[in-house]
Amino acid sequence: MITVKATINLDALRHNLSRVKQAAPDSKIISVIKANAYGHGILPVAKALLESDCFAVARLDEALILRESFLKNGITKEIIILEGVFSVEEYLQCMALKLIPVVNSLEQFQWLQDSLESENSLEPENSLERADKNSELNYWLKIDTGMHRLGLSEDELMVLIKKYQQLGENYLPSGFISHFACADEIDNPLNQIQISQFNQQYQQLSILKELPDIDKSMANSAAILSLPEAHFDWVRAGIMLYGISPFETSNVSRNGLDEQLKPVMTLSSEIIAIKKLKKGDCIGYGASWCCPEDMTIGVIAIGYGDGYPRHASCGTPVLIHGTEVPLVGRVSMDMITVDLRRLEQKSIAFQIGDKVILWGEGLPIERVSRKAGTIAYELLCQITQRVSFEYE
Ligand SMILES: *Cc1c(COP(=O)(O)O)cnc(C)c1O
Repeated sequence: MITVKATINLDALRHNLSRVKQAAPDSKIISVIKANAYGHGILPVAKALLESDCFAVARLDEALILRESFLKNGITKEIIILEGVFSVEEYLQCMALKLIPVVNSLEQFQWLQDSLESENSLEPENSLERADKNSELNYWLKIDTGMHRLGLSEDELMVLIKKYQQLGENYLPSGFISHFACADEIDNPLNQIQISQFNQQYQQLSILKELPDIDKSMANSAAILSLPEAHFDWVRAGIMLYGISPFETSNVSRNGLDEQLKPVMTLSSEIIAIKKLKKGDCIGYGASWCCPEDMTIGVIAIGYGDGYPRHASCGTPVLIHGTEVPLVGRVSMDMITVDLRRLEQKSIAFQIGDKVILWGEGLPIERVSRKAGTIAYELLCQITQRVSFEYE
């Protein structure tokens, strides 16, 4: 039976976490495991990363899966919900399950405020529970320093500070965060502008009397590796945990190995047919690639039905017996075709059933994503149900 496999190397994952620690030694680490841990499997990845100080996901449903598993296994790690939640009920759920939502807008703050007020109006027989729940209120506030996606603007922050003055200390966030737009471009001037904007906005809070310590967090993987002045109290490591360079999109192309990271996912399949074709024979849908001479073509069981990118262009590398061979012709749903001449030139024997690595160990995914006109993040998230996962 042919199995297309995603092999997840948990030691590599732990190595990459230690690399985060080394890069940001004075900060606590949030492991970002949204989108099913960037396609690697949220539960096994979380379990392998228990050395991190905290976890972050994007949405409530992801947080619920994680919290349920943590409860079963006696794990008490905090879980941050980066997009926050969107109703009073969801805030109450967060409080009950010790989830930390990010407040990204004044609307989200209003639901938070309403949910706290509804908690405080509980019947007396619930007062014990109330006291307990109140102490568990914990949220982070996000401000917009130039990404212009989520987060409060300068003016909105002033509105909120006025509310804090009326509502009191209980309503303050425990974290103050923002997100970079261009941290993967090391010299982009927006990075420094965002950092100074962030520090300035944080200063605004000092208008408040009896201001408790509010933690700061700004850095994603790219900033962890290149902007130490943005490390602050908490760093939020995503892509680098999976062994991938956050700088692959910048003009200096790097891969994870250049950052002393180890690839975590290796995607592999097998050769399912070997064809001898004649000069001029054209291959696959659209007959878009034609043999320049008589030659040997390998057919590999992997396609966009598995999450291999359909836009991978001719020449995208594929690894067979440690040698890179180029993809030729179009990617179809279940198969790709590769030019096997290089194996023949090197007198490397091959046959049906031989293992083929599409990315991972020995072949950085960044090289594949560049050839497919996308980023590794997308390739990882695109892996489909048909691929079987193995953890080692
Ligand atoms: C996804 C995400 C991260 C992690 O980003 P990487 O580039 O993968 O390190 C950090 N912070 C926020 C708010 C995110 O959404």
